[in-house]
Amino acid sequence: MNKNVYENYTDAKLKQAYQFCEGYKTFITNAKTEREAIIETVKLAESAGFKNINNIKKLKAGDKVYAINMDKAMVLAVIGSDDLANGLNIVGSHIDSPRLDLKATPLYEDGELCMLDTHYYGGIKKYQWTATPLAIHGIVCKKDGSKIRICYGEKEDDAVLGISDLLPHLEKEKRSEVITGEELNLIVGLTPSKDAKKDKVKANILNILKQQGIEEDDLFSSEIEIVPAGKARDFGLDKSMVIGYGQDDKVCAYPSLMALFNIKKPKRTCVCLLVDKEEIGSVGATGMESMFFENTIADIIALTGEYSDLKLRHCLTNSKMLSSDVTAGYDPNRPAPFNKATDAFLGHGVAFCKYTGSRGKSGASDANPEYIAKLRKILDDNKIHYQATEMGKVEAGGGGTIAYIMAKYDMDVIDAGVPVLSMHAPWEITAKVDIYETYLAYDAFYKFEFKA
Ligand code: MN
Ligand code: MN
Repeated sequence: MNKNVYENYTDAKLKQAYQFCEGYKTFITNAKTEREAIIETVKLAESAGFKNINNIKKLKAGDKVYAINMDKAMVLAVIGSDDLANGLNIVGSHIDSPRLDLKATPLYEDGELCMLDTHYYGGIKKYQWTATPLAIHGIVCKKDGSKIRICYGEKEDDAVLGISDLLPHLEKEKRSEVITGEELNLIVGLTPSKDAKKDKVKANILNILKQQGIEEDDLFSSEIEIVPAGKARDFGLDKSMVIGYGQDDKVCAYPSLMALFNIKKPKRTCVCLLVDKEEIGSVGATGMESMFFENTIADIIALTGEYSDLKLRHCLTNSKMLSSDVTAGYDPNRPAPFNKATDAFLGHGVAFCKYTGSRGKSGASDANPEYIAKLRKILDDNKIHYQATEMGKVEAGGGGTIAYIMAKYDMDVIDAGVPVLSMHAPWEITAKVDIYETYLAYDAFYKFEFKA
Protein backbone atom coordinates (compact mmCIF):
# COMPACT_ATOMS: atom_id res chain seq x y z
CA MET A 1 0.00 0.00 0.00
CA ASN A 2 1.09 3.58 -0.77
CA LYS A 3 4.12 2.49 -2.82
CA ASN A 4 5.37 3.63 -6.20
CA VAL A 5 4.04 1.19 -8.81
CA TYR A 6 7.24 1.33 -10.90
CA GLU A 7 9.25 -0.38 -8.13
CA ASN A 8 7.42 -3.66 -8.80
CA TYR A 9 6.64 -3.45 -12.51
CA THR A 10 8.42 -5.64 -15.05
CA ASP A 11 8.93 -4.21 -18.54
CA ALA A 12 6.26 -6.60 -19.80
CA LYS A 13 3.67 -5.38 -17.28
CA LEU A 14 4.48 -1.75 -18.04
CA LYS A 15 3.92 -2.50 -21.71
CA GLN A 16 0.51 -4.04 -20.89
CA ALA A 17 -0.43 -0.99 -18.85
CA TYR A 18 0.55 1.41 -21.64
CA GLN A 19 -1.26 -0.75 -24.22
CA PHE A 20 -4.42 -0.63 -22.07
CA CYS A 21 -4.25 3.18 -22.16
CA GLU A 22 -4.27 3.24 -25.98
CA GLY A 23 -7.90 2.01 -25.84
CA TYR A 24 -8.60 4.48 -23.07
CA LYS A 25 -7.30 7.47 -25.07
CA THR A 26 -9.50 6.48 -28.02
CA PHE A 27 -12.53 6.14 -25.69
CA ILE A 28 -12.20 9.59 -24.11
CA THR A 29 -11.42 11.20 -27.46
CA ASN A 30 -14.71 9.85 -28.86
CA ALA A 31 -16.76 10.25 -25.66
CA LYS A 32 -16.59 13.91 -24.66
CA THR A 33 -20.27 14.17 -23.70
CA GLU A 34 -22.57 11.81 -21.74
CA ARG A 35 -24.46 10.87 -24.91
CA GLU A 36 -21.22 10.16 -26.77
CA ALA A 37 -20.02 8.05 -23.81
CA ILE A 38 -23.22 5.98 -24.04
CA ILE A 39 -22.82 5.55 -27.82
CA GLU A 40 -19.19 4.38 -27.40
CA THR A 41 -20.11 2.11 -24.47
CA VAL A 42 -22.94 0.44 -26.43
CA LYS A 43 -20.50 -0.27 -29.30
CA LEU A 44 -17.96 -1.83 -26.91
CA ALA A 45 -20.63 -3.70 -24.93
CA GLU A 46 -22.36 -5.19 -27.97
CA SER A 47 -19.07 -6.44 -29.36
CA ALA A 48 -18.47 -8.03 -25.93
CA GLY A 49 -21.81 -9.87 -26.21
CA PHE A 50 -24.10 -7.58 -24.17
CA LYS A 51 -27.77 -7.23 -25.25
CA ASN A 52 -30.28 -4.43 -24.71
CA ILE A 53 -32.67 -5.34 -21.89
CA ASN A 54 -35.61 -4.15 -24.02
CA ASN A 55 -35.06 -7.10 -26.38
CA ILE A 56 -34.83 -9.74 -23.63
CA LYS A 57 -37.67 -11.90 -22.26
CA LYS A 58 -35.71 -14.03 -19.78
CA LEU A 59 -32.30 -13.78 -18.06
CA LYS A 60 -30.13 -16.65 -16.79
CA ALA A 61 -26.66 -17.03 -15.28
CA GLY A 62 -23.91 -15.89 -17.65
CA ASP A 63 -26.17 -13.56 -19.64
CA LYS A 64 -24.87 -10.06 -20.40
CA VAL A 65 -27.34 -7.21 -20.51
CA TYR A 66 -27.50 -3.42 -20.60
CA ALA A 67 -30.15 -0.75 -19.98
CA ILE A 68 -29.97 2.90 -21.08
CA ASN A 69 -31.67 5.88 -19.44
CA MET A 70 -32.47 8.82 -21.75
CA ASP A 71 -29.23 8.24 -23.71
CA LYS A 72 -27.21 9.63 -20.75
CA ALA A 73 -26.97 6.91 -18.08
CA MET A 74 -26.50 3.17 -18.26
CA VAL A 75 -26.47 -0.06 -16.26
CA LEU A 76 -24.53 -3.07 -17.58
CA ALA A 77 -24.76 -6.46 -15.86
CA VAL A 78 -23.34 -9.97 -16.10
CA ILE A 79 -25.86 -12.27 -14.42
CA GLY A 80 -24.45 -14.53 -11.69
CA SER A 81 -25.45 -18.06 -10.67
CA ASP A 82 -26.22 -16.95 -7.10
CA ASP A 83 -29.66 -15.75 -5.93
CA LEU A 84 -29.94 -12.01 -6.66
CA ALA A 85 -31.19 -11.51 -3.09
CA ASN A 86 -27.58 -12.13 -2.00
CA GLY A 87 -26.51 -8.88 -3.69
CA LEU A 88 -24.49 -7.46 -6.55
CA ASN A 89 -20.85 -6.45 -7.04
CA ILE A 90 -21.20 -2.90 -8.34
CA VAL A 91 -18.64 -0.49 -9.80
CA GLY A 92 -20.23 2.90 -10.47
CA SER A 93 -18.78 6.00 -12.09
CA HIS A 94 -20.05 9.16 -13.77
CA ILE A 95 -19.73 10.11 -17.42
CA ASP A 96 -20.55 13.84 -17.24
CA SER A 97 -17.68 16.33 -17.00
CA PRO A 98 -17.35 20.08 -16.38
CA ARG A 99 -17.89 22.14 -19.53
CA LEU A 100 -19.86 25.06 -20.98
CA ASP A 101 -23.47 24.50 -22.06
CA LEU A 102 -25.31 26.76 -24.49
CA LYS A 103 -28.06 28.92 -23.03
CA ALA A 104 -31.60 28.29 -24.31
CA THR A 105 -31.52 31.37 -26.59
CA PRO A 106 -27.79 31.61 -27.18
CA LEU A 107 -27.24 33.34 -30.52
CA TYR A 108 -26.58 37.09 -30.70
CA GLU A 109 -24.40 39.69 -32.39
CA ASP A 110 -22.04 42.10 -30.62
CA GLY A 111 -19.10 44.16 -31.85
CA GLU A 112 -19.82 42.88 -35.36
CA LEU A 113 -19.06 39.33 -34.22
CA CYS A 114 -21.59 36.52 -33.93
CA MET A 115 -21.59 35.01 -30.44
CA LEU A 116 -23.08 32.06 -28.53
CA ASP A 117 -24.01 32.67 -24.88
CA THR A 118 -23.13 29.85 -22.45
CA HIS A 119 -23.89 28.74 -18.89
CA TYR A 120 -21.10 26.69 -17.37
CA TYR A 121 -21.76 23.17 -16.02
CA GLY A 122 -19.94 21.91 -12.94
CA GLY A 123 -17.03 23.45 -11.08
CA ILE A 124 -14.70 25.22 -13.47
CA LYS A 125 -12.02 27.90 -13.22
CA LYS A 126 -13.55 30.24 -15.78
CA TYR A 127 -10.27 31.75 -17.00
CA GLN A 128 -9.10 28.30 -18.15
CA TRP A 129 -11.79 28.24 -20.85
CA THR A 130 -10.69 31.42 -22.64
CA ALA A 131 -8.11 31.67 -25.43
CA THR A 132 -8.17 27.93 -26.18
CA PRO A 133 -9.66 26.00 -29.11
CA LEU A 134 -13.15 24.70 -28.31
CA ALA A 135 -15.46 22.26 -30.07
CA ILE A 136 -19.23 22.01 -30.07
CA HIS A 137 -20.94 18.66 -29.33
CA GLY A 138 -24.58 17.79 -28.81
CA ILE A 139 -28.00 17.33 -30.32
CA VAL A 140 -30.75 19.56 -31.65
CA CYS A 141 -34.27 18.16 -31.34
CA LYS A 142 -36.76 19.23 -34.01
CA LYS A 143 -40.51 19.62 -33.50
CA ASP A 144 -41.12 16.68 -35.88
CA GLY A 145 -39.33 14.36 -33.43
CA SER A 146 -36.11 14.12 -35.43
CA LYS A 147 -32.69 14.77 -33.85
CA ILE A 148 -29.65 16.38 -35.44
CA ARG A 149 -26.36 15.26 -33.91
CA ILE A 150 -23.60 17.87 -33.78
CA CYS A 151 -19.87 17.30 -33.39
CA TYR A 152 -17.88 20.17 -34.82
CA GLY A 153 -14.30 21.25 -34.16
CA GLU A 154 -12.68 17.82 -33.88
CA LYS A 155 -11.77 16.85 -37.45
CA GLU A 156 -8.58 18.18 -39.10
CA ASP A 157 -10.52 20.34 -41.60
CA ASP A 158 -13.15 21.58 -39.10
CA ALA A 159 -12.75 25.10 -37.74
CA VAL A 160 -12.66 25.47 -33.97
CA LEU A 161 -14.49 28.03 -31.81
CA GLY A 162 -13.34 29.89 -28.75
CA ILE A 163 -13.69 32.59 -26.13
CA SER A 164 -11.48 35.67 -26.36
CA ASP A 165 -9.47 37.09 -23.47
CA LEU A 166 -7.92 40.52 -22.93
CA LEU A 167 -4.26 41.15 -23.62
CA PRO A 168 -2.24 41.53 -20.40
CA HIS A 169 -1.67 45.28 -20.96
CA LEU A 170 -5.41 45.98 -20.74
CA GLU A 171 -5.91 43.91 -17.60
CA LYS A 172 -5.43 45.43 -14.15
CA GLU A 173 -6.85 42.64 -11.96
CA LYS A 174 -5.74 39.02 -11.72
CA ARG A 175 -7.12 36.83 -14.50
CA SER A 176 -8.73 34.29 -12.17
CA GLU A 177 -10.89 37.02 -10.66
CA VAL A 178 -11.72 38.96 -13.77
CA ILE A 179 -13.65 36.39 -15.83
CA THR A 180 -17.30 35.97 -14.91
CA GLY A 181 -19.80 33.38 -16.12
CA GLU A 182 -21.51 35.99 -18.31
CA GLU A 183 -18.21 36.68 -20.07
CA LEU A 184 -17.92 33.11 -21.32
CA ASN A 185 -19.37 33.77 -24.75
CA LEU A 186 -18.23 31.77 -27.71
CA ILE A 187 -17.17 33.62 -30.84
CA VAL A 188 -18.63 31.84 -33.85
CA GLY A 189 -18.27 34.19 -36.84
CA LEU A 190 -17.30 37.49 -38.42
CA THR A 191 -18.67 37.37 -41.97
CA PRO A 192 -21.73 39.61 -42.61
CA SER A 193 -24.65 38.35 -44.73
CA LYS A 194 -25.17 40.51 -47.87
CA ASP A 195 -29.00 40.19 -47.71
CA ALA A 196 -29.61 41.08 -44.07
CA LYS A 197 -30.52 44.59 -42.90
CA LYS A 198 -29.38 44.25 -39.27
CA ASP A 199 -27.35 41.71 -37.21
CA LYS A 200 -25.73 40.76 -40.49
CA VAL A 201 -23.08 38.47 -38.95
CA LYS A 202 -25.68 36.58 -36.96
CA ALA A 203 -27.82 36.30 -40.12
CA ASN A 204 -24.90 34.64 -41.92
CA ILE A 205 -24.42 32.12 -39.09
CA LEU A 206 -28.18 31.42 -39.14
CA ASN A 207 -27.84 30.64 -42.88
CA ILE A 208 -25.04 28.19 -42.10
CA LEU A 209 -27.20 26.53 -39.40
CA LYS A 210 -30.17 26.39 -41.81
CA GLN A 211 -28.07 24.36 -44.24
CA GLN A 212 -27.79 21.78 -41.41
CA GLY A 213 -31.58 21.87 -40.88
CA ILE A 214 -31.38 24.03 -37.74
CA GLU A 215 -33.56 27.12 -37.13
CA GLU A 216 -32.74 29.60 -34.35
CA ASP A 217 -35.72 28.49 -32.21
CA ASP A 218 -34.58 24.85 -32.46
CA LEU A 219 -31.70 25.78 -30.13
CA PHE A 220 -34.28 25.98 -27.32
CA SER A 221 -34.75 22.21 -27.68
CA SER A 222 -31.06 21.41 -27.99
CA GLU A 223 -28.42 20.03 -25.66
CA ILE A 224 -25.15 21.49 -26.87
CA GLU A 225 -21.94 21.25 -24.88
CA ILE A 226 -18.78 23.26 -25.47
CA VAL A 227 -15.68 21.20 -24.78
CA PRO A 228 -11.93 21.50 -25.52
CA ALA A 229 -11.15 20.61 -29.15
CA GLY A 230 -8.69 17.82 -29.85
CA LYS A 231 -7.62 14.33 -28.89
CA ALA A 232 -6.38 12.79 -25.67
CA ARG A 233 -2.60 12.40 -25.92
CA ASP A 234 0.42 11.01 -24.16
CA PHE A 235 1.91 13.39 -21.61
CA GLY A 236 5.55 13.62 -20.49
CA LEU A 237 8.84 12.99 -22.30
CA ASP A 238 8.58 9.41 -21.03
CA LYS A 239 4.95 9.13 -22.24
CA SER A 240 3.99 7.89 -18.78
CA MET A 241 0.82 9.95 -18.47
CA VAL A 242 -2.34 10.86 -20.39
CA ILE A 243 -3.62 14.40 -20.96
CA GLY A 244 -7.23 14.64 -22.08
CA TYR A 245 -10.63 16.24 -21.53
CA GLY A 246 -13.22 14.65 -19.23
CA GLN A 247 -10.94 12.20 -17.41
CA ASP A 248 -13.07 12.96 -14.33
CA ASP A 249 -14.68 10.53 -14.47
CA LYS A 250 -14.21 8.54 -17.66
CA VAL A 251 -10.79 7.49 -16.37
CA CYS A 252 -12.78 5.33 -13.93
CA ALA A 253 -15.68 4.49 -16.29
CA TYR A 254 -13.41 2.92 -18.93
CA PRO A 255 -11.51 0.57 -16.57
CA SER A 256 -14.83 -0.46 -14.95
CA LEU A 257 -16.22 -1.41 -18.38
CA MET A 258 -13.09 -3.28 -19.42
CA ALA A 259 -13.08 -5.16 -16.10
CA LEU A 260 -16.77 -6.10 -16.51
CA PHE A 261 -16.05 -7.43 -20.02
CA ASN A 262 -13.63 -9.96 -18.41
CA ILE A 263 -16.44 -11.52 -16.35
CA LYS A 264 -17.78 -14.75 -17.88
CA LYS A 265 -19.77 -16.90 -15.43
CA PRO A 266 -19.76 -15.11 -12.07
CA LYS A 267 -21.32 -16.36 -8.85
CA ARG A 268 -22.51 -12.87 -7.85
CA THR A 269 -24.11 -10.65 -10.48
CA CYS A 270 -21.65 -7.95 -11.55
CA VAL A 271 -22.92 -4.47 -12.41
CA CYS A 272 -21.22 -1.50 -14.04
CA LEU A 273 -23.09 1.74 -13.48
CA LEU A 274 -22.51 4.88 -15.59
CA VAL A 275 -24.39 7.97 -14.45
CA ASP A 276 -24.83 11.59 -15.45
CA LYS A 277 -25.12 14.87 -13.46
CA GLU A 278 -22.54 13.99 -10.76
CA GLU A 279 -20.79 17.30 -11.36
CA ILE A 280 -23.93 19.23 -10.40
CA GLY A 281 -24.99 17.11 -7.41
CA SER A 282 -26.29 13.85 -8.98
CA VAL A 283 -29.73 15.42 -9.46
CA GLY A 284 -32.19 14.96 -12.32
CA ALA A 285 -33.61 11.97 -14.17
CA THR A 286 -30.20 10.81 -15.40
CA GLY A 287 -28.28 11.46 -12.16
CA MET A 288 -27.63 8.93 -9.36
CA GLU A 289 -30.58 10.33 -7.36
CA SER A 290 -32.97 9.07 -10.06
CA MET A 291 -34.88 5.76 -9.73
CA PHE A 292 -33.25 4.38 -12.90
CA PHE A 293 -30.71 2.15 -11.13
CA GLU A 294 -33.26 0.68 -8.72
CA ASN A 295 -35.84 0.21 -11.49
CA THR A 296 -33.30 -1.57 -13.69
CA ILE A 297 -32.32 -3.95 -10.88
CA ALA A 298 -36.05 -4.64 -10.35
CA ASP A 299 -36.33 -5.44 -14.10
CA ILE A 300 -33.32 -7.76 -13.89
CA ILE A 301 -34.83 -9.60 -10.90
CA ALA A 302 -38.13 -9.94 -12.76
CA LEU A 303 -36.39 -11.28 -15.88
CA THR A 304 -34.45 -13.89 -13.88
CA GLY A 305 -37.51 -15.28 -12.06
CA GLU A 306 -39.78 -14.24 -9.23
CA TYR A 307 -39.84 -10.52 -8.51
CA SER A 308 -40.78 -9.25 -5.09
CA ASP A 309 -40.16 -5.92 -3.42
CA LEU A 310 -38.49 -7.73 -0.51
CA LYS A 311 -36.10 -9.51 -2.88
CA LEU A 312 -35.14 -6.17 -4.45
CA ARG A 313 -34.46 -4.66 -0.99
CA HIS A 314 -32.35 -7.69 0.02
CA CYS A 315 -30.47 -7.49 -3.27
CA LEU A 316 -29.60 -3.83 -2.73
CA THR A 317 -28.64 -4.09 0.94
CA ASN A 318 -26.46 -7.17 0.32
CA SER A 319 -24.60 -5.46 -2.55
CA LYS A 320 -20.98 -4.30 -2.34
CA MET A 321 -19.88 -1.27 -4.26
CA LEU A 322 -16.84 0.64 -5.43
CA SER A 323 -17.87 4.23 -6.06
CA SER A 324 -15.45 4.70 -8.87
CA ASP A 325 -14.43 8.34 -8.96
CA VAL A 326 -11.22 10.31 -9.28
CA THR A 327 -9.26 11.94 -6.49
CA ALA A 328 -6.81 14.84 -6.46
CA GLY A 329 -3.16 13.84 -6.96
CA TYR A 330 -0.42 15.73 -5.10
CA ASP A 331 0.63 18.75 -7.20
CA PRO A 332 4.23 20.00 -6.69
CA ASN A 333 3.28 23.27 -8.42
CA ARG A 334 0.42 23.98 -6.02
CA PRO A 335 1.27 22.09 -2.79
CA ALA A 336 -0.59 24.36 -0.33
CA PRO A 337 -3.90 22.43 0.03
CA PHE A 338 -2.23 18.99 0.17
CA ASN A 339 -0.93 16.95 3.08
CA LYS A 340 1.88 14.87 1.55
CA ALA A 341 1.55 12.21 4.23
CA THR A 342 -2.14 11.46 3.58
CA ASP A 343 -2.95 12.49 0.01
CA ALA A 344 -2.68 10.51 -3.24
CA PHE A 345 0.34 10.51 -5.55
CA LEU A 346 0.41 9.88 -9.28
CA GLY A 347 2.07 6.52 -9.88
CA HIS A 348 0.99 4.93 -6.59
CA GLY A 349 -1.95 3.01 -8.06
CA VAL A 350 -5.71 3.05 -7.44
CA ALA A 351 -6.66 5.46 -4.64
CA PHE A 352 -9.21 4.50 -1.94
CA CYS A 353 -10.89 7.39 -0.19
CA LYS A 354 -12.45 6.12 3.08
CA TYR A 355 -14.60 9.18 3.26
CA THR A 356 -15.11 12.24 1.07
CA GLY A 357 -17.07 15.22 2.41
CA SER A 358 -15.28 18.15 4.01
CA ARG A 359 -14.62 19.98 7.29
CA GLY A 360 -15.48 17.47 9.96
CA LYS A 361 -16.45 14.86 7.30
CA SER A 362 -19.59 16.83 6.53
CA GLY A 363 -21.47 15.12 3.70
CA ALA A 364 -19.21 12.06 3.82
CA SER A 365 -20.13 8.47 3.11
CA ASP A 366 -17.84 6.89 5.69
CA ALA A 367 -16.83 3.37 4.59
CA ASN A 368 -17.00 0.64 7.24
CA PRO A 369 -13.63 -0.76 8.42
CA GLU A 370 -15.07 -4.31 8.15
CA TYR A 371 -15.61 -3.70 4.42
CA ILE A 372 -12.19 -2.07 3.95
CA ALA A 373 -10.51 -5.07 5.60
CA LYS A 374 -12.18 -7.39 3.04
CA LEU A 375 -11.07 -5.11 0.20
CA ARG A 376 -7.49 -5.06 1.53
CA LYS A 377 -7.45 -8.86 1.37
CA ILE A 378 -8.77 -8.85 -2.23
CA LEU A 379 -6.24 -6.20 -3.29
CA ASP A 380 -3.24 -7.85 -1.58
CA ASP A 381 -4.17 -11.37 -2.77
CA ASN A 382 -4.27 -10.01 -6.33
CA LYS A 383 -1.06 -7.95 -5.92
CA ILE A 384 -2.86 -4.68 -6.76
CA HIS A 385 -1.02 -1.41 -6.08
CA TYR A 386 -3.33 0.82 -4.08
CA GLN A 387 -3.13 3.87 -1.87
CA ALA A 388 -5.30 5.31 0.88
CA THR A 389 -6.13 8.97 0.36
CA GLU A 390 -7.91 12.03 1.61
CA MET A 391 -8.92 14.96 -0.63
CA GLY A 392 -6.45 17.60 0.55
CA LYS A 393 -5.81 19.00 4.02
CA VAL A 394 -8.57 18.61 6.63
CA GLU A 395 -9.88 22.15 6.44
CA ALA A 396 -8.78 22.88 2.87
CA GLY A 397 -10.09 19.97 0.90
CA GLY A 398 -13.16 17.91 0.27
CA GLY A 399 -15.50 16.74 -2.41
CA GLY A 400 -18.51 14.57 -3.07
CA THR A 401 -19.24 11.49 -5.20
CA ILE A 402 -22.19 9.13 -5.72
CA ALA A 403 -21.10 6.98 -2.74
CA TYR A 404 -23.50 8.47 -0.18
CA ILE A 405 -26.47 7.99 -2.52
CA MET A 406 -25.75 4.26 -2.85
CA ALA A 407 -25.11 4.03 0.89
CA LYS A 408 -28.77 4.88 1.50
CA TYR A 409 -29.61 1.35 0.25
CA ASP A 410 -27.67 0.17 3.31
CA MET A 411 -24.91 -1.34 1.14
CA ASP A 412 -21.17 -1.23 1.74
CA VAL A 413 -19.55 1.36 -0.52
CA ILE A 414 -16.18 3.10 -0.74
CA ASP A 415 -14.66 5.55 -3.21
CA ALA A 416 -11.89 4.09 -5.36
CA GLY A 417 -10.38 5.68 -8.45
CA VAL A 418 -7.54 7.32 -10.30
CA PRO A 419 -5.58 10.35 -8.96
CA VAL A 420 -5.75 13.36 -11.30
CA LEU A 421 -3.73 16.55 -11.79
CA SER A 422 -5.53 19.71 -13.00
CA MET A 423 -8.90 18.13 -12.18
CA HIS A 424 -11.85 19.96 -13.83
CA ALA A 425 -9.45 21.89 -16.11
CA PRO A 426 -10.02 21.62 -19.87
CA TRP A 427 -7.06 19.19 -20.01
CA GLU A 428 -6.63 16.83 -17.07
CA ILE A 429 -3.57 14.64 -16.38
CA THR A 430 -3.45 11.04 -15.15
CA ALA A 431 -0.75 8.33 -14.86
CA LYS A 432 -1.04 5.28 -17.10
CA VAL A 433 0.05 2.86 -14.35
CA ASP A 434 -2.73 4.19 -12.08
CA ILE A 435 -5.34 3.64 -14.80
CA TYR A 436 -4.11 0.07 -15.26
CA GLU A 437 -4.01 -0.69 -11.52
CA THR A 438 -7.55 0.69 -11.23
CA TYR A 439 -8.65 -1.72 -13.97
CA LEU A 440 -6.92 -4.65 -12.18
CA ALA A 441 -8.56 -3.66 -8.88
CA TYR A 442 -12.05 -3.54 -10.44
CA ASP A 443 -11.41 -6.90 -12.13
CA ALA A 444 -10.47 -8.50 -8.78
CA PHE A 445 -13.45 -6.83 -7.06
CA TYR A 446 -15.97 -8.12 -9.63
CA LYS A 447 -14.60 -11.65 -9.24
CA PHE A 448 -14.74 -11.74 -5.44
CA GLU A 449 -17.53 -13.86 -3.93
CA PHE A 450 -18.73 -11.74 -1.00
CA LYS A 451 -20.91 -13.62 1.50
CA ALA A 452 -24.37 -12.12 2.02
MN1 MN B 1 -15.83 12.85 -10.35
MN1 MN C 1 -15.66 16.24 -10.76
